[in-house]
Amino acid sequence: MSVSSKDLVAKKMAQLIRTGATLTSYACPVCGTPLLRLKTGEYYCANCDKPVVIVRSDAEEKEVMIRYGLMDIRDMLYEKLMMINNELKETKDIDRINELVRSMVLILEAYDKITQIINQGLPKTEAAKTERK
Ligand SMILES: [Zn+2]
Repeated sequence: MSVSSKDLVAKKMAQLIRTGATLTSYACPVCGTPLLRLKTGEYYCANCDKPVVIVRSDAEEKEVMIRYGLMDIRDMLYEKLMMINNELKETKDIDRINELVRSMVLILEAYDKITQIINQGLPKTEAAKTERK
């Protein structure tokens, strides 16, 4: 990497930081340039001009998998809600209506909790911390 292209990379990084990216303590596995974290949450190497996926630990990888799993469950809950909704429209039996509404409330509670976990993540583990020494 020549000096002038180094300058270009630095300029590009500065520009990205001005528009909301943050400098991280991670280095690009290919070229060693410090990685930026974009507003989208993506890591980016300004030198390689590529996004870099960082899996900091097995725990974090697992968390990502869990999050995807939770999204599946949330979709399924939504389908069940629609199913209940359809049955509610049809039934005139008050006991069945009570049952359906109770199920609906439970599903909505679960839906809410799952959404919270998806948005906020699971409690952070030690391993997920950045290591800068
Ligand atoms: Zn790089």
